[in-house]
Amino acid sequence: MKNPFTAAEFLTSAARLSQAPADTGREAAFAGRSNAGKSSALNAIVGHKGLARTSKTPGRTQLINFFPVTDDARLVDLPGYGYAKVPPEVKAQWERHLTAYLQQRESLVGLILLMDIRHPLTDFDRQMLAWCRDAVLEVHVLLTKADKLKRGAAQNTLLKVRRELTGLYPQASVQLFSAVDGTGLDAARALLATWLELGPS
Ligand code: GDP
Repeated sequence: MKNPFTAAEFLTSAARLSQAPADTGREAAFAGRSNAGKSSALNAIVGHKGLARTSKTPGRTQLINFFPVTDDARLVDLPGYGYAKVPPEVKAQWERHLTAYLQQRESLVGLILLMDIRHPLTDFDRQMLAWCRDAVLEVHVLLTKADKLKRGAAQNTLLKVRRELTGLYPQASVQLFSAVDGTGLDAARALLATWLELGPS
């Protein structure tokens, strides 16, 4: 499959919804607990190693980062938390901004939720799924670092997570992914291209 995301580049960061780019076209957001492999997945999908480095710049980790692909399509990197020790009031503020984004952003068509295959469905993941359910958003889960498990163990985890998701958010879909060996890369690109209505470039 040709990669329809090669033109993606960093545009801007927003601390709150009012600083986001115009709410037009279609947008897909990436979320995951810190260290889940979100930057690596974004870089692999776009095919540009340095793309999501911006999101890791100190001071930017709590921001929503926007990566336009075309004039009408964007990838969005949402702040991950649940790892860094942050004061409760800072966490509460992130939550307000995140939920405002999930609920109010008209151009947001779906959320890619990244989970380390060795530690799926953390409290962070369950909270994100609950927010997405409230916002009636499409959710697709990438079980990242699939290369860390043997094929059989990875398949077992996939089935287990798929079963558990049925109870948490029946609309959510799930697949294996590895930024290292390319497992699931084409499938993830194809799904995102459908969400964003991108043709092959
Ligand atoms: P983020 O904090 O969610 O953006 O996570 P990163 O993308 O920075 O990845 C966290 C750590 O996991 C880094 O050490 C990566 O090299 C490693 N990692 C990310 N994706 C993969 C993968 O697919 N396979 C393996 N083996 N390691 C990965």
